[in-house]
Amino acid sequence: MNQIFDKMAAFPRSGLMGGPTPLEPLQRLSEHLGIEFWIKRDDLTGLGGGGNKIRQLEYYLGAAQVEGADTILITGAVQSNYVRSAAAAAAKCGMKAVLQLEDRVPGKGVIYRSSGNVLLGRLLGADYMQYPEGEDEAGADQALRERAAELQAQGRAPYVIPLGLRNKPLGTLGYMNAAQEVLAQRDDFDAVAIPSGSGATHMGFLAGLRALGSTTPVHGICVRRDAAAQADRLQEVATRLAALLEVESWVTQGDIQTSDTALAPGYGRVGPKTRDAIRLMAETEGLFLDPVYSGKCFAGLIDLVESGKITAGSRVLFVHTGGFPALFAYQDDVLPL
Ligand SMILES: *Cc1c(COP(=O)(O)O)cnc(C)c1O
Repeated sequence: MNQIFDKMAAFPRSGLMGGPTPLEPLQRLSEHLGIEFWIKRDDLTGLGGGGNKIRQLEYYLGAAQVEGADTILITGAVQSNYVRSAAAAAAKCGMKAVLQLEDRVPGKGVIYRSSGNVLLGRLLGADYMQYPEGEDEAGADQALRERAAELQAQGRAPYVIPLGLRNKPLGTLGYMNAAQEVLAQRDDFDAVAIPSGSGATHMGFLAGLRALGSTTPVHGICVRRDAAAQADRLQEVATRLAALLEVESWVTQGDIQTSDTALAPGYGRVGPKTRDAIRLMAETEGLFLDPVYSGKCFAGLIDLVESGKITAGSRVLFVHTGGFPALFAYQDDVLPL
Protein backbone atom coordinates (compact mmCIF):
# COMPACT_ATOMS: atom_id res chain seq x y z
CA MET A 1 0.00 0.00 0.00
CA ASN A 2 2.62 2.47 1.05
CA GLN A 3 5.79 2.19 -1.03
CA ILE A 4 8.15 3.02 1.82
CA PHE A 5 6.51 0.73 4.36
CA ASP A 6 6.41 -2.00 1.71
CA LYS A 7 10.19 -1.73 1.40
CA MET A 8 10.53 -1.95 5.18
CA ALA A 9 8.71 -5.25 5.20
CA ALA A 10 11.72 -6.86 3.48
CA PHE A 11 13.93 -6.30 6.55
CA PRO A 12 14.06 -9.19 9.00
CA ARG A 13 12.61 -8.34 12.38
CA SER A 14 12.72 -10.30 15.61
CA GLY A 15 9.51 -10.12 17.62
CA LEU A 16 10.63 -8.35 20.76
CA MET A 17 7.56 -6.10 21.12
CA GLY A 18 4.55 -7.70 22.76
CA GLY A 19 2.16 -5.38 20.91
CA PRO A 20 1.33 -1.67 20.63
CA THR A 21 2.20 0.51 23.61
CA PRO A 22 -0.54 2.64 25.21
CA LEU A 23 -1.31 6.21 24.19
CA GLU A 24 -2.72 8.07 27.18
CA PRO A 25 -4.01 11.58 27.97
CA LEU A 26 -2.35 13.29 30.93
CA GLN A 27 -5.17 15.23 32.56
CA ARG A 28 -3.37 17.03 35.34
CA LEU A 29 -0.36 18.04 33.29
CA SER A 30 -2.68 19.27 30.54
CA GLU A 31 -4.19 21.68 33.02
CA HIS A 32 -0.80 22.61 34.42
CA LEU A 33 0.75 23.35 31.02
CA GLY A 34 -2.28 24.76 29.21
CA ILE A 35 -2.08 22.22 26.38
CA GLU A 36 -3.86 18.96 25.59
CA PHE A 37 -1.08 16.64 26.64
CA TRP A 38 -0.77 13.01 25.51
CA ILE A 39 1.93 10.48 26.21
CA LYS A 40 3.06 7.52 24.09
CA ARG A 41 4.13 4.91 26.62
CA ASP A 42 7.20 3.51 24.91
CA ASP A 43 8.61 3.10 28.39
CA LEU A 44 6.30 0.07 28.33
CA THR A 45 7.76 -1.80 25.36
CA GLY A 46 8.02 -4.69 27.76
CA LEU A 47 11.27 -6.57 27.41
CA GLY A 48 14.04 -6.10 29.98
CA GLY A 49 12.77 -2.85 31.48
CA GLY A 50 11.32 -1.45 28.25
CA GLY A 51 12.14 1.79 26.47
CA ASN A 52 12.74 2.92 22.90
CA LYS A 53 15.66 0.61 22.11
CA ILE A 54 13.42 -2.45 21.99
CA ARG A 55 11.83 -1.19 18.76
CA GLN A 56 15.28 -0.49 17.28
CA LEU A 57 16.69 -3.83 18.37
CA GLU A 58 13.93 -5.75 16.58
CA TYR A 59 15.77 -4.99 13.34
CA TYR A 60 19.31 -5.59 14.60
CA LEU A 61 18.40 -8.89 16.25
CA GLY A 62 16.43 -9.81 13.13
CA ALA A 63 19.56 -9.29 11.02
CA ALA A 64 21.71 -11.13 13.56
CA GLN A 65 19.36 -14.12 13.52
CA VAL A 66 19.39 -14.29 9.71
CA GLU A 67 23.20 -14.31 9.83
CA GLY A 68 23.17 -17.13 12.37
CA ALA A 69 24.85 -15.04 15.05
CA ASP A 70 25.28 -16.39 18.57
CA THR A 71 26.71 -13.22 20.15
CA ILE A 72 25.87 -9.55 19.78
CA LEU A 73 28.28 -6.73 20.59
CA ILE A 74 27.19 -3.17 21.37
CA THR A 75 28.71 0.03 22.77
CA GLY A 76 27.28 2.87 24.86
CA ALA A 77 27.67 5.08 27.91
CA VAL A 78 28.10 3.37 31.29
CA GLN A 79 24.40 3.96 32.07
CA SER A 80 23.27 3.19 28.52
CA ASN A 81 19.73 1.89 28.21
CA TYR A 82 20.64 0.60 24.78
CA VAL A 83 23.26 -1.85 25.96
CA ARG A 84 20.98 -3.04 28.78
CA SER A 85 18.11 -3.52 26.32
CA ALA A 86 20.44 -5.35 23.91
CA ALA A 87 21.43 -7.73 26.70
CA ALA A 88 17.74 -8.47 27.31
CA ALA A 89 17.09 -8.95 23.59
CA ALA A 90 20.09 -11.27 23.31
CA ALA A 91 18.83 -13.32 26.27
CA LYS A 92 15.39 -13.65 24.70
CA CYS A 93 16.93 -14.74 21.39
CA GLY A 94 19.29 -17.24 23.03
CA MET A 95 22.46 -15.25 22.30
CA LYS A 96 25.30 -13.88 24.42
CA ALA A 97 25.81 -10.12 24.72
CA VAL A 98 29.09 -8.22 24.94
CA LEU A 99 28.51 -4.70 26.25
CA GLN A 100 31.21 -2.07 25.80
CA LEU A 101 30.94 0.82 28.25
CA GLU A 102 32.41 4.17 27.19
CA ASP A 103 33.62 6.89 29.54
CA ARG A 104 31.21 9.60 28.38
CA VAL A 105 30.20 11.33 31.59
CA PRO A 106 32.92 12.87 33.76
CA GLY A 107 33.06 12.93 37.54
CA LYS A 108 30.81 9.97 38.34
CA GLY A 109 31.26 7.70 41.32
CA VAL A 110 30.70 4.12 42.32
CA ILE A 111 26.88 4.19 42.26
CA TYR A 112 26.92 5.41 38.65
CA ARG A 113 29.29 2.60 37.75
CA SER A 114 27.43 -0.20 39.51
CA SER A 115 23.71 0.53 39.91
CA GLY A 116 20.85 1.12 37.47
CA ASN A 117 21.51 -0.23 34.00
CA VAL A 118 24.86 -1.76 34.99
CA LEU A 119 23.19 -3.93 37.63
CA LEU A 120 20.49 -4.98 35.14
CA GLY A 121 22.99 -5.77 32.39
CA ARG A 122 24.97 -8.00 34.73
CA LEU A 123 21.77 -9.70 35.83
CA LEU A 124 21.00 -10.38 32.16
CA GLY A 125 24.24 -12.32 31.93
CA ALA A 126 26.15 -9.92 29.68
CA ASP A 127 29.94 -9.76 29.35
CA TYR A 128 31.55 -6.34 29.68
CA MET A 129 34.43 -4.46 28.11
CA GLN A 130 35.53 -0.85 28.58
CA TYR A 131 36.36 1.95 26.16
CA PRO A 132 38.27 4.89 27.66
CA GLU A 133 36.75 7.58 25.39
CA GLY A 134 33.22 8.94 25.19
CA GLU A 135 33.24 11.01 22.02
CA ASP A 136 34.85 8.65 19.54
CA GLU A 137 32.06 6.71 17.83
CA ALA A 138 34.30 5.34 15.09
CA GLY A 139 36.91 4.19 17.61
CA ALA A 140 34.29 2.58 19.82
CA ASP A 141 32.85 0.71 16.85
CA GLN A 142 36.34 -0.35 15.80
CA ALA A 143 37.04 -1.76 19.25
CA LEU A 144 33.82 -3.80 18.98
CA ARG A 145 34.86 -5.12 15.58
CA GLU A 146 38.24 -6.16 16.95
CA ARG A 147 36.57 -8.05 19.79
CA ALA A 148 34.19 -9.61 17.27
CA ALA A 149 37.17 -10.81 15.21
CA GLU A 150 38.67 -12.42 18.33
CA LEU A 151 35.40 -14.18 19.07
CA GLN A 152 35.16 -15.37 15.50
CA ALA A 153 38.65 -16.84 15.75
CA GLN A 154 37.35 -18.81 18.76
CA GLY A 155 34.55 -20.26 16.66
CA ARG A 156 31.79 -17.90 17.77
CA ALA A 157 29.41 -16.08 15.40
CA PRO A 158 29.40 -12.41 16.46
CA TYR A 159 27.13 -9.62 15.21
CA VAL A 160 28.09 -5.98 15.86
CA ILE A 161 25.38 -3.38 16.46
CA PRO A 162 27.29 -0.25 15.41
CA LEU A 163 26.93 3.24 16.86
CA GLY A 164 28.54 5.51 14.24
CA LEU A 165 26.64 7.45 11.61
CA ARG A 166 28.29 5.66 8.72
CA ASN A 167 26.34 2.47 9.29
CA LYS A 168 22.97 1.26 8.07
CA PRO A 169 20.35 2.99 10.26
CA LEU A 170 18.38 -0.19 10.94
CA GLY A 171 17.12 1.03 14.31
CA THR A 172 15.42 3.96 12.60
CA LEU A 173 12.98 1.49 11.04
CA GLY A 174 11.71 0.64 14.52
CA TYR A 175 10.55 4.21 15.02
CA MET A 176 8.88 4.34 11.64
CA ASN A 177 6.77 1.50 13.02
CA ALA A 178 6.10 3.57 16.15
CA ALA A 179 4.81 6.45 14.02
CA GLN A 180 2.49 4.10 12.18
CA GLU A 181 1.31 2.70 15.50
CA VAL A 182 0.54 6.18 16.87
CA LEU A 183 -1.33 7.25 13.72
CA ALA A 184 -3.57 4.21 14.11
CA GLN A 185 -4.28 5.26 17.70
CA ARG A 186 -4.81 8.97 17.07
CA ASP A 187 -3.84 11.04 14.03
CA ASP A 188 -4.65 14.63 15.01
CA PHE A 189 -1.69 15.87 17.03
CA ASP A 190 -0.54 19.47 16.54
CA ALA A 191 3.02 18.75 17.70
CA VAL A 192 5.28 15.93 18.86
CA ALA A 193 8.22 16.11 21.29
CA ILE A 194 10.74 13.28 21.18
CA PRO A 195 14.33 12.91 22.46
CA SER A 196 17.11 13.26 19.89
CA GLY A 197 20.35 11.42 20.71
CA SER A 198 21.77 9.17 17.99
CA GLY A 199 18.76 10.40 16.02
CA ALA A 200 17.30 6.97 15.23
CA THR A 201 14.21 7.56 17.35
CA HIS A 202 13.63 11.15 16.21
CA MET A 203 14.28 10.51 12.52
CA GLY A 204 12.40 7.22 12.51
CA PHE A 205 9.31 8.81 13.99
CA LEU A 206 9.51 11.85 11.72
CA ALA A 207 10.17 9.78 8.60
CA GLY A 208 7.33 7.41 9.50
CA LEU A 209 4.85 10.26 9.92
CA ARG A 210 5.88 11.89 6.63
CA ALA A 211 5.81 8.60 4.75
CA LEU A 212 2.22 8.16 5.89
CA GLY A 213 1.19 11.70 4.93
CA SER A 214 1.21 13.34 8.35
CA THR A 215 2.63 16.88 8.45
CA THR A 216 2.63 17.20 12.26
CA PRO A 217 5.76 19.10 13.44
CA VAL A 218 8.21 16.87 15.33
CA HIS A 219 10.41 18.65 17.85
CA GLY A 220 13.59 16.72 18.55
CA ILE A 221 14.81 17.59 22.03
CA CYS A 222 18.61 17.51 22.04
CA VAL A 223 20.21 15.34 24.70
CA ARG A 224 23.76 15.14 23.39
CA ARG A 225 24.65 17.86 20.83
CA ASP A 226 23.53 21.44 20.24
CA ALA A 227 20.60 22.12 17.93
CA ALA A 228 22.67 22.88 14.81
CA ALA A 229 24.99 19.87 15.15
CA GLN A 230 22.03 17.62 15.84
CA ALA A 231 20.13 18.90 12.79
CA ASP A 232 23.19 18.10 10.62
CA ARG A 233 23.30 14.62 12.10
CA LEU A 234 19.62 14.06 11.40
CA GLN A 235 20.07 15.13 7.80
CA GLU A 236 22.71 12.43 7.48
CA VAL A 237 20.45 9.84 9.12
CA ALA A 238 17.66 10.80 6.68
CA THR A 239 20.00 10.34 3.72
CA ARG A 240 21.18 6.96 4.97
CA LEU A 241 17.64 5.85 5.74
CA ALA A 242 16.54 6.65 2.18
CA ALA A 243 19.59 4.78 0.83
CA LEU A 244 18.78 1.78 3.05
CA LEU A 245 15.26 1.64 1.61
CA GLU A 246 16.50 2.45 -1.91
CA VAL A 247 14.20 5.44 -2.35
CA GLU A 248 14.65 9.19 -2.73
CA SER A 249 14.82 10.95 0.64
CA TRP A 250 11.31 12.07 1.56
CA VAL A 251 12.13 14.06 4.69
CA THR A 252 12.91 17.72 3.96
CA GLN A 253 15.32 19.98 5.77
CA GLY A 254 12.34 22.01 7.01
CA ASP A 255 10.94 18.89 8.67
CA ILE A 256 14.00 18.64 10.93
CA GLN A 257 13.42 20.65 14.08
CA THR A 258 15.85 20.47 16.99
CA SER A 259 15.72 22.25 20.32
CA ASP A 260 18.58 22.35 22.81
CA THR A 261 17.30 24.57 25.62
CA ALA A 262 17.35 21.65 28.07
CA LEU A 263 20.74 20.23 27.06
CA ALA A 264 22.92 22.03 29.63
CA PRO A 265 25.15 21.04 31.36
CA GLY A 266 25.64 18.33 28.71
CA TYR A 267 25.11 14.68 27.85
CA GLY A 268 24.31 12.50 30.80
CA ARG A 269 24.46 15.43 33.21
CA VAL A 270 21.47 16.68 35.11
CA GLY A 271 20.67 20.40 35.30
CA PRO A 272 17.95 22.05 37.38
CA LYS A 273 15.44 22.08 34.50
CA THR A 274 15.69 18.34 34.04
CA ARG A 275 15.50 17.70 37.75
CA ASP A 276 12.36 19.85 38.03
CA ALA A 277 10.78 18.18 35.00
CA ILE A 278 11.35 14.69 36.42
CA ARG A 279 9.78 15.71 39.71
CA LEU A 280 6.84 17.47 38.04
CA MET A 281 5.99 14.35 36.02
CA ALA A 282 6.27 12.11 39.07
CA GLU A 283 4.32 14.36 41.44
CA THR A 284 1.61 15.31 38.93
CA GLU A 285 1.05 12.09 36.99
CA GLY A 286 2.78 9.32 38.92
CA LEU A 287 5.13 8.53 36.03
CA PHE A 288 8.90 8.19 36.05
CA LEU A 289 11.19 9.88 33.55
CA ASP A 290 14.95 9.38 33.34
CA PRO A 291 17.78 11.86 33.94
CA VAL A 292 19.55 11.47 30.57
CA TYR A 293 16.78 11.43 27.93
CA SER A 294 13.09 11.53 28.80
CA GLY A 295 13.56 14.00 31.67
CA LYS A 296 15.45 16.35 29.34
CA CYS A 297 12.82 15.83 26.67
CA PHE A 298 10.04 16.86 29.03
CA ALA A 299 12.08 19.87 30.19
CA GLY A 300 12.59 20.85 26.53
CA LEU A 301 8.88 20.46 25.85
CA ILE A 302 8.02 22.75 28.76
CA ASP A 303 10.41 25.34 27.26
CA LEU A 304 8.65 25.07 23.88
CA VAL A 305 5.29 25.70 25.53
CA GLU A 306 6.59 28.57 27.66
CA SER A 307 8.27 30.24 24.68
CA GLY A 308 5.11 29.91 22.57
CA LYS A 309 6.76 27.69 19.95
CA ILE A 310 4.08 25.20 20.91
CA THR A 311 0.96 27.31 21.29
CA ALA A 312 -1.48 27.16 24.19
CA GLY A 313 -4.30 24.69 23.68
CA SER A 314 -2.32 22.56 21.19
CA ARG A 315 -2.75 18.80 21.20
CA VAL A 316 0.78 17.63 21.99
CA LEU A 317 2.29 14.14 21.96
CA PHE A 318 5.23 13.39 24.24
CA VAL A 319 7.02 10.18 23.29
CA HIS A 320 8.18 8.59 26.54
CA THR A 321 11.25 6.59 25.56
CA GLY A 322 11.82 4.95 28.95
CA GLY A 323 15.17 4.84 30.73
CA PHE A 324 14.02 4.88 34.33
CA PRO A 325 16.68 2.38 35.59
CA ALA A 326 19.21 5.23 35.29
CA LEU A 327 17.34 7.10 38.04
CA PHE A 328 19.00 4.78 40.55
CA ALA A 329 22.46 5.52 39.15
CA TYR A 330 21.79 9.27 39.28
CA GLN A 331 20.15 9.40 42.69
CA ASP A 332 22.41 12.17 43.98
CA ASP A 333 21.68 14.38 40.93
CA VAL A 334 17.94 13.76 40.87
CA LEU A 335 17.08 13.97 44.55
CA PRO A 336 19.98 14.13 47.01
CA LEU A 337 19.20 12.66 50.42
C1 LIG B 1 18.77 6.04 23.68
C2 LIG B 1 17.64 6.74 24.29
C3 LIG B 1 17.06 7.85 23.66
C4 LIG B 1 17.61 8.44 22.39
O1 LIG B 1 17.34 7.64 21.28
P1 LIG B 1 18.19 7.78 19.95
O2 LIG B 1 17.53 6.86 19.03
O3 LIG B 1 19.61 7.39 20.28
O4 LIG B 1 18.16 9.20 19.53
C5 LIG B 1 15.97 8.43 24.25
N1 LIG B 1 15.47 7.96 25.41
C6 LIG B 1 15.99 6.92 26.05
C7 LIG B 1 15.40 6.50 27.35
C8 LIG B 1 17.10 6.26 25.51
O5 LIG B 1 17.62 5.22 26.16
